[in-house]
Amino acid sequence: MKFLYDPPLLIKRLFKDFCWQTSNNKILLTLDDGPNPRSTEKILNLFSKLEIKALFFCVGKNVERYSEWTKNILNEGHIIGNHTFNHKILTRLNKIDSLEEINSFNSLMIEKYDRKVKYFRPPFGMVNFKTKKLMKETGMKCVMWNLLTYDYKKDIKKVKFSVNNYLQINSMIVLHDSNKTEDIIEDSIKYIVDAVSKNGFDFGVPEECLK
Ligand SMILES: [Zn+2]
Repeated sequence: MKFLYDPPLLIKRLFKDFCWQTSNNKILLTLDDGPNPRSTEKILNLFSKLEIKALFFCVGKNVERYSEWTKNILNEGHIIGNHTFNHKILTRLNKIDSLEEINSFNSLMIEKYDRKVKYFRPPFGMVNFKTKKLMKETGMKCVMWNLLTYDYKKDIKKVKFSVNNYLQINSMIVLHDSNKTEDIIEDSIKYIVDAVSKNGFDFGVPEECLK
């Protein structure tokens, strides 16, 4: 299924064990696809200035390849979630390969960074009933969203449109930490921060937002 900015209620009901919004009426920023040598630094510098803690849904092969940036994300107090090892669409894989995509990521995080990974986000948001079972079997929480910014379209106007129309008190916002967004990611984050403040909302920290 293809999602719009905010996925339909029917889908949220079918997959009600998944997180579709924050649970504490705070805003949470999530960054998919990193780490990336061209965008992660920009994002971390800005978050440090703004005192924001975010959830980075990293791809295992990037974690392996860009281990300095992985360390920096963790050292800055952010949380890393599982976005599969190879950015694979799980709904197209059999069970053994799906488990391998999830478990190899988690093993890497334990062995190299001493972190137990709790949160999972499926690449392209593709889920089905098998995903529910996989989450149970691996003990992971599936974290979806209620505000997709389309930042990967490299057009700040699209990001602004999504924020203007879909920002809510409990927004779980998807941004991307990748080559595609490196030119607009700082302006996108700044725009979100302004909108959050104008609406009187607050940012939360990942663990608290996902209870
Ligand atoms: Zn992705």
